Amino acid sequence: MKEQLHRSVVIIGSGPAGLTAAIYAARADLKPLVIEGPQPGGQLTITTDVENYPGFAEGIQGPELMEQFRAQAARFGTEFITSWIDQVDLSKRPFTLHTEDHEIRAETLIIASGASAKWLGIPGEAPAPHGLGGLGVSACATCDGFFFKGKKIIVAGGGDTAMEEATFLTRYASRVTVIHRREQLRASKIMQEKAFNNEKIDFIWNTEIKEIIGTSETGVTGVRLYDNVTKEERIFKCEGVFIAIGHKPNTDMFRGWLEMDAVGYLKTAGRSMATNIPGVFACGDAQDSFYRQAVTAAGTGCMAAIDAERFLDHLPVPTPTGEEITIEGERVTADHEIVIMPDGEVVPNKAESESATASD
Ligand code: NDP
Repeated sequence: MKEQLHRSVVIIGSGPAGLTAAIYAARADLKPLVIEGPQPGGQLTITTDVENYPGFAEGIQGPELMEQFRAQAARFGTEFITSWIDQVDLSKRPFTLHTEDHEIRAETLIIASGASAKWLGIPGEAPAPHGLGGLGVSACATCDGFFFKGKKIIVAGGGDTAMEEATFLTRYASRVTVIHRREQLRASKIMQEKAFNNEKIDFIWNTEIKEIIGTSETGVTGVRLYDNVTKEERIFKCEGVFIAIGHKPNTDMFRGWLEMDAVGYLKTAGRSMATNIPGVFACGDAQDSFYRQAVTAAGTGCMAAIDAERFLDHLPVPTPTGEEITIEGERVTADHEIVIMPDGEVVPNKAESESATASD
């Protein structure tokens, strides 16, 4: 028998976005429930020094930062469960979420399920101690680039992320070699040009990385490459490997319910974090393919919590179409001229006094 829970605000995810949403919702006395996924604390828990999160002049370790976020959310009464959501029903409010042990009803839902870097799945890539992850292998140039001063590194991938990471890494590295499996980049023209024009960057085409080589003592010392045209293998020496083959937002469970782009990033309204379903909000990397920083995730988490609070306060919240919707299901058109009532009745959007003056 599953435990039944019913909450005003349920937050999926416990990275910077989810926990900031929790801090705001808890301080608004909404007693949020955070469902921590398979990686409590999110992507920052797999990084080391975080030096770009404001407020920590000397930097802070990723796991420690996330412990602080969590403690702050807990201090104001956030409730946590660690579970994997296997099914959702967003057809009506309260929304229903199923985990192995719980059936959770949510008056409002904040999706902060984050994104995961895609990995090649090759030997040597796993986090230490199983591989060289954290010992020269990374999927985040902004987080880890600083540690590769004067080093020779490679970047795997041919999209915008790879070009951006390669270009960023030239600030630190002595040489950056992009290794791409085809002879053409997928990246946008402008990002390609930037990389081609950077004299610290070179390219190896039609080549797959088969293994990352090194030990826990030496860190990364090289990679084994396979040229898929000549069918030849060789060892390429380097001291760092950045995997930049894209990210995947953790939004599969919302497919069919919520509007998302081709990759799976959830669509939100311009000025708010509202999704196409009133009462469901999305924040952080689950909806942002562009900035993907801890501080921007935290910012959108705050926005989502304020949106949820206003929604519960019956104030209209914008939707991606430009319409606004109230908790009662009244839709205000984007031009603010008309209100469509839940039963379909269409009325002018005028205050009573205004209507009276108009009819005088
Ligand atoms: P993309 O899917 O665009 O590119 C992924 C790249 O990695 C492709 O070149 C692909 O190769 C390669 N790749 C994928 N899987 C493997 C694999 N298993 N082995 C080897 N190579 C692999 O992802 P991005 O993260 O680069 O971009 C995602 C979106 O975000 C895009 O819309 C992009 O424009 C946007 N973005 C924009 C930025 C900006 O404007 N500043 C910065 C970063 C991203 P192949 O080409 O052969 O498929």
